[in-house]
Amino acid sequence: MISAPGPAPMQLAALADQPRVLVRRGGSPRPGAQCVVYWMQRALRIAGNSALDVAVRAANILGLPVVVYFGVIPNYPNANLRHYHFLQQGLRDAAEDAAGLGIGFVVRRPPDTLEAFLEETRAALLIGDENPCREPERWRKVLAKRLTIPYWTVDADVIVPSRVFGRSFTLLHHFRPHLKAELPKFLVASPKVTPLHPWKPSKALSSFSLSSDITAGFKKLDRNVTPVDTFTGGSRAALRRLGEFLRSGLADYGENRNHPEVSGTSRLSPYLHFGNIGPLTIALAVERAVHSGKILPETGEKFLDQLIGWRELAVLFVRHEPNYDNWDCAAPWARQSLLEHAADARVYRYSLEQLERAQTHDELWNAAQREMVSTGWMHNFMRMYWAKKILEWAPDPATAFDWAVILNDRYELDGRDANGYAGIAWAIVGKLDRPWFNRPVFGLVRSITSASFFRKFDAAAYIRQKGAGKDGRLQEK
Ligand SMILES: Cc1cc2nc3c(=O)[nH]c(=O)nc-3n(C[C@H](O)[C@H](O)[C@H](O)COP(=O)(O)OP(=O)(O)OC[C@H]3O[C@@H](n4cnc5c(N)ncnc54)[C@H](O)[C@@H]3O)c2cc1C
Repeated sequence: MISAPGPAPMQLAALADQPRVLVRRGGSPRPGAQCVVYWMQRALRIAGNSALDVAVRAANILGLPVVVYFGVIPNYPNANLRHYHFLQQGLRDAAEDAAGLGIGFVVRRPPDTLEAFLEETRAALLIGDENPCREPERWRKVLAKRLTIPYWTVDADVIVPSRVFGRSFTLLHHFRPHLKAELPKFLVASPKVTPLHPWKPSKALSSFSLSSDITAGFKKLDRNVTPVDTFTGGSRAALRRLGEFLRSGLADYGENRNHPEVSGTSRLSPYLHFGNIGPLTIALAVERAVHSGKILPETGEKFLDQLIGWRELAVLFVRHEPNYDNWDCAAPWARQSLLEHAADARVYRYSLEQLERAQTHDELWNAAQREMVSTGWMHNFMRMYWAKKILEWAPDPATAFDWAVILNDRYELDGRDANGYAGIAWAIVGKLDRPWFNRPVFGLVRSITSASFFRKFDAAAYIRQKGAGKDGRLQEK
């Protein structure tokens, strides 16, 4: 039974009954509880975090404080030092922001566990966030079976909660009408939620100090992929980046987004991936810029089509496709066509190591690979070219898919993300695309030739910028 008197059970039931909330384990909150715990996994931010908002509302109903728990996992799938470094920068911002609002913030590392923490704090209930990728979803399912307190998760990193659609879509233009119908309900500012019962420092809990390296002692961690200084993690840097983009990038986005030699896109993808900023915050800021008359409506729409249309299409793809990161997700027409072309002569063939070291005959491709390795990010236009060429040069499409995933996840700060798997599936196995003209190797999968690609932008300038200087080379392993 709920220890709080009055209408708490009904209020809690209403809170759980929202499309964004999934009740993974029902039941009543622990009697005599001391707090509500928010298990922060994906949405690494305090402001504009609907999962934290649900935790705060639940805590306010129960008359309890909120504590955020972040468990640092030593072997997060495919994460390396570059990713952990960015993660740690984000954790510092989140810890500071939480303290300012009277929300507890605890970082723990193994052998500490979330379950032990829930007992130590006598948590009333557990709120978590969501991520469509396989491993974090598996952890949530395992945890839901073991817990004895209620456990809800909140779909905090999309604008329209994925469960509203309940399916994936084959093409963006199939998805758009469904999205358009839902956006008026979800593309709105959420009311501000303030914790009514601050976490008292007297109830001090031990927390790993964020002035120390969160990866210290992680023996199996890949430290060869080093941190980059092109991006600083955290909500503060994310908001600064958004502000700069609104001031000096968005107005020309329609034109510049197809020019990798110009820094014309938002570069917000690492922040979105780590949840340092939510898509709603970005979309509302863009809408405000359009309403102020500073930005043309069609420019705002182009950007939102990427941020909401393509991004949420990618999330639905990963959520509903168990093989999202391998060749088995191929569109049936693409699979058949690629197999028919399996024996086609490949003029150039490279090994994964040659690709990783940007040692191909194609200077444009090498420049893109260097951009990714040395800055942790690659321009969208170049990502398309990069993946298409891997299909052309790998022994077969299944291997091409695997290699693209390995490199993308290893070097991109925004890698290991639904967008990356969808982008690679689009480029290599025709997912979220339609059949094109029959060509050697590619079959009906859309191809990009270097000659046509060179005509679209100043490729020579891009190659010059990403020149094989000292910092562009891979570290010797
Ligand atoms: C082969 C390939 C691999 C990719 N790998 C990743 C990846 O690992 N992580 C990742 O976040 N994106 C990936 N993308 C999608 C896209 O290239 C990046 O999201 C974009 O380049 C990020 O730069 P930006 O933030 O400046 O984008 P902007 O143009 O400023 O767009 C704003 C936001 O919209 C979203 N977005 C833009 N383009 C796309 C797209 N085509 N698909 C889905 N969402 C999009 C992103 O969240 C992006 O941050 C990949 C695309 C391809 C073709």
